[in-house]
Amino acid sequence: MIQRSLVLLKPDAVARGHMGEIISRFEKIGLKIVGMKMVWVDKEFSKKHYEEHVEKPFYKGLEALITLGPVLAMVIEGVEAIETIRKVVGPTEPKGAPAGTIRGDFAHVSYDYADAEGLGIKNLIHASANKDDAKKEIALWFEDSELHSYKNVHDVHILK
Ligand code: ATP
Ligand code: MG
Repeated sequence: MIQRSLVLLKPDAVARGHMGEIISRFEKIGLKIVGMKMVWVDKEFSKKHYEEHVEKPFYKGLEALITLGPVLAMVIEGVEAIETIRKVVGPTEPKGAPAGTIRGDFAHVSYDYADAEGLGIKNLIHASANKDDAKKEIALWFEDSELHSYKNVHDVHILK
């Protein structure tokens, strides 16, 4: 039941200085960071990561957004972590994302606005959607040697 998920703090989150606050949210709920690095994605890599969206009308804007500056890439681990992380992240459109979620607390723009402006929607964060995506995305972003198994306080106070 312990799962790993790929989480990216997108260039808008990094440039706005929200890395620390967002990482804190994951740490506070007892999830464990098992890999972390900054990566400046190029167009070719964007097409690999967002393969499912390449043919969509918003892809051009999405590619511009994800290649705008460095992202903070993380692998985060915990009990059924993929679903929990998506819950903390919130739905894709910040306008409709509930307060308390990362996208609801740190952004407010709508699909209509982003589409009218030809922009990828700036929603700060990516998180793997399901087990298959998590496996594929972690392999794309991280070498095995960059991922760490270790004990932390959560193993004692949350998991046991
Ligand atoms: P992510 O894959 O980044 O975690 P998500 O799974 O919530 O986000 P997807 O449908 O996979 O959403 O879309 C990928 C990203 O593309 C979104 O996070 C957003 O930045 C952008 N995006 C999605 N739909 C639109 C749209 N209609 N207009 C502009 N940008 C969009
Ligand atoms: Mg997605």
